[in-house]
Amino acid sequence: MAMPTATSKRAHFIEPPFFLRFIDERPSIQLSLHHMRPPPLPHQTALLTQILERIEKSAEEGDRTPVVVFDLDATLYDNRPRTLEILMEYRTTILNSRPEIAEVLATLTAERIDYLLSDTLRGCGITRTEVVNEITRYWRERFFTDAYCHHDVPIQGAPEFVRACHEAGATIVYLTGRDLHGMLIGTVTSLRDSGFPIGTVGVELVLKPDANLSDEAFKRGVLPELSRLGEVIAFFDNETANTNLAKELYPEATVVLLETQRVPYAPPAAPGVEVIADFRL
Ligand SMILES: [Mg+2]
Repeated sequence: MAMPTATSKRAHFIEPPFFLRFIDERPSIQLSLHHMRPPPLPHQTALLTQILERIEKSAEEGDRTPVVVFDLDATLYDNRPRTLEILMEYRTTILNSRPEIAEVLATLTAERIDYLLSDTLRGCGITRTEVVNEITRYWRERFFTDAYCHHDVPIQGAPEFVRACHEAGATIVYLTGRDLHGMLIGTVTSLRDSGFPIGTVGVELVLKPDANLSDEAFKRGVLPELSRLGEVIAFFDNETANTNLAKELYPEATVVLLETQRVPYAPPAAPGVEVIADFRL
């Protein structure tokens, strides 16, 4: 697909040092996750291009600053590699004591990580309650921590698209259910190292103040406050509860659902919510 005119001047945004360092560190995960992906649908490229054009127009007219909101997990980042890493670490602790469990865990790949850990384990034939509970405890103690954030892999095209929105004049808001106490440092480091704008003018990172708050309640409380930054013109999330809430609060915004992973039994997307697979233009 040819680069649309509105984005041609952004070609230099892809910074080889970030990209190459990233590829070097995790070649197998990168290759397996991005292998054989079909080209982006015309609807996706048209939608993302329209958002960039709307930012430029809005920034030029200078009325209110355009604001673009991005969720992190399963929206800008694929976090299945984080879970895979933890399960592989767990595996090394039981090599001698439970070789049969270690053997089935060794067969896991990022694509076979489900939304719920119990489903992932069931997919490997691990169903005994005490084993599932032990693995879940091990996973929970690590998954929601700074130290493991760097295992996340950006969704394809995401760093480039977010940088393009920022350079076109949008204020970027990362609105995430990760919690401030457990994951701020790891999240900032990961955003920086994977090439997303962070630590600069026009970028906000909003995390959950209390890990026990539900993501939906947290976002319901924060979303109305975003209007203090300017005009919310686009909102990206992988959960329909959140996209539907954003559409209700900001009916003029382009609200986009990422077709990645979502909670089982999620409500259907509200009318007017757009769907994309990733951020490739
Ligand atoms: Mg998410």
